[in-house]
Amino acid sequence: MPIEWKRLQCPTCRAVRRADRNVPNNGLHAALTIFTGGAWLFVWLVSMYERDPWRCSVCGRNLGGRRRYPMWMKVLDVVILAAVVMGIIALIIAKAYGRR
Ligand SMILES: [Zn+2]
Repeated sequence: MPIEWKRLQCPTCRAVRRADRNVPNNGLHAALTIFTGGAWLFVWLVSMYERDPWRCSVCGRNLGGRRRYPMWMKVLDVVILAAVVMGIIALIIAKAYGRR
């Protein structure tokens, strides 16, 4: 997973430190969006909204900045994922029968 960083005051180190956090893997999400015919776009948007907190790269202290999305969005996430998987399975079955 790619990371981004910025300089933040760390209360534990009592100094300005480099803080890191994970960012969404946009390349992977773009590939999945194309592969699923756009259905993945919603999951991508959700992952852009949710971010890990900034962490001090020296002591690992949580420097805040965490954002969370509501529970119903996570449920929708799983529903879309299930729909995509079922769609792929349906396609495989349709192709298998279509060859006869
Ligand atoms: Zn620190």
